[in-house]
Amino acid sequence: MRCLVKSHDAEGMELFTDRPVPTIGHNDVLIKIHKTGICGTDRHIWEWDEWASGRVPIGTVIGHEFVGIVEEVGDEVQGIAVGDRVSGEGHIGCGQCSLCRTGNMHICTNVSIIGIDRDGCFADYLSLPARNVWPVHPSIPDKIAAVFDPLGNAVHTVMMGDVSGKTVLITGVGIIGLMAVTVAKAAGATRIFVTDVNTRRLDLARQLGAVEAFDARDDAWIQQVKETTRGEGVDVLLEMSGIAAGIHQGFASLRPGGRAALLGLPGRPIEFDLANEVIFKAATIIGVNGRRMFQTWYQMQELLLSGRLELDAIITHELPFEEFARGFALMQSGEGIKIVLDCER
Ligand SMILES: [Zn+2]
Ligand SMILES: [Zn+2]
Repeated sequence: MRCLVKSHDAEGMELFTDRPVPTIGHNDVLIKIHKTGICGTDRHIWEWDEWASGRVPIGTVIGHEFVGIVEEVGDEVQGIAVGDRVSGEGHIGCGQCSLCRTGNMHICTNVSIIGIDRDGCFADYLSLPARNVWPVHPSIPDKIAAVFDPLGNAVHTVMMGDVSGKTVLITGVGIIGLMAVTVAKAAGATRIFVTDVNTRRLDLARQLGAVEAFDARDDAWIQQVKETTRGEGVDVLLEMSGIAAGIHQGFASLRPGGRAALLGLPGRPIEFDLANEVIFKAATIIGVNGRRMFQTWYQMQELLLSGRLELDAIITHELPFEEFARGFALMQSGEGIKIVLDCER
């Protein structure tokens, strides 16, 4: 089969065309991949930054966002049949620890993630434990099902932010931040403010329902947000930038007693004024990791079926699988936002 492998200790990935199709265990399914999304995480692995080179073993097949068709099922698998159209949760929990056994498999301490810790879905075929498989509702198109993973991050963050009937600030509108705009709107946020440094993304955020989209480089917007929120600040902060300046701006804009859900990953430890930014403000902070299995997936499906999410403008490119290098270049240049690779074209 074809697959994209991190084969060298350097930038890039290599396309192999002669790898064997993965074998499956008794409780696994074999999925023929139809479409697969390129994630910011994959870009880190492509660029081979400090995080990626310290985490991903050389020789790993990359990729964790997909939709496909079940081609084979292990002999103990129930409820999934050959021919089913599926996506899946890429965080594979151990199933034994207290977290897995209490509905917190997404933060299992022994988690193995496809395309990072084990072979992923930038390939013609993927082997996945059956319990991680998610059947795709017939009315959801392949292109959308291919990006359930980042959409699930957005849904999880918005739900943790508890946005209904509240003002919301999203700092950083990359792929997940933009998805969070449409999800927060659908979930009943009253007014959504966003910040970023990219004009095109700010425009897109407005198109998706943000009432104000500010250039993060000029702090003056913080005062403007406060003036329109009773002088207090926003009720909810969804932090998606992972940049120290963005995080400080976010907390400066949060009202006393506000709630902050943090998803953006800082590249290194950052300095934080805990007394003024959190304690005196009596802020509630929630770290967000992955998607709840499978609560987030059901919420995501309901939101999609309600017709209230606008995702077409975020998925800017669909390319044939073998044009992966162009996909990464489009992401790096900022010309592309979400790129989906089509394995069948
Ligand atoms: Zn992803
Ligand atoms: Zn576990």
